[in-house]
Amino acid sequence: MTGIQDKVIAITGASSGIGEAAALLLAGRGAKVVLGARRLERLEPLVERITKAGGQALLARTDVTRREDVAGLVRLACERYGRLDVLISNAGSLATSPLDELRVDDWEALIDTNIKGVLYGIAAALPVFRKQGFGHFINTASTSAHRIVPGQAVYAGTKFAVRAISEGLRQEAGAALRVTVISPGMTRTNFLEHVKDPETHARFAETMEKIAIAPDAIARAMAFAIEQPADVDVGEVIVRPTAQN
Ligand code: NDP
Repeated sequence: MTGIQDKVIAITGASSGIGEAAALLLAGRGAKVVLGARRLERLEPLVERITKAGGQALLARTDVTRREDVAGLVRLACERYGRLDVLISNAGSLATSPLDELRVDDWEALIDTNIKGVLYGIAAALPVFRKQGFGHFINTASTSAHRIVPGQAVYAGTKFAVRAISEGLRQEAGAALRVTVISPGMTRTNFLEHVKDPETHARFAETMEKIAIAPDAIARAMAFAIEQPADVDVGEVIVRPTAQN
């Protein structure tokens, strides 16, 4: 199936930022979206907004650090809409600190959300895609998967891992499946809420205010990958502000 109309698309991290923008864009173009995140108080009005506009959307409370939650999101799509065309593993978290500070809890949380969350998506959707004979993984990485700066070693490590796992998946997937990595640069979302250190937060916020692009720009890249013919695999798209180094 080419295009976006009628595709069943599950999205993790759909309650905010890039995931929310993708949900609105794709539902507006006729996809049936199945939205996962932990904050139901943000997902519920989003589903209402989409359905009021004539679209189709479902939600499931999903913590991507819990394998059974991600499996439940995929199951919901298959049970209610009969199949899953695309899984967008977009949920992600950020913590920054020099390695010297030994914030091991932060390291573990980053690995659990950013790496294991994507792996649980693969574990949930790959058997479904194999059975169907079609399916498309879209995994959100980052420009930090290409460029490392001090304080972001672990975050960048998780995003390098997303790229590596996605490339391995692409090579193993065979002709029937598609695998896309979307690597955003600085994007105007709630992502900085994760940055606890006030000085780092202020520095990031200033740059974001000056140069960040709208989350819709990333959603459009996801839509571009999805709407290609079934034999066209968009491998990776980097979308960043023109002003970003
Ligand atoms: P937001 O903070 O606006 O959104 C993050 C989303 O991830 C929220 O919907 C949040 O939902 C969800 N999320 C976080 N942890 C979990 C979890 N354990 N289980 C389920 N959902 C979770 O940030 P963005 O939209 O910017 O982030 C989306 C992706 O884009 C991330 O992977 C991020 O790494 C990546 N990215 C963002 C950049 C930016 O500049 N904004 C740059 C490069 C990459 P909830 O809290 O409700 O669970």
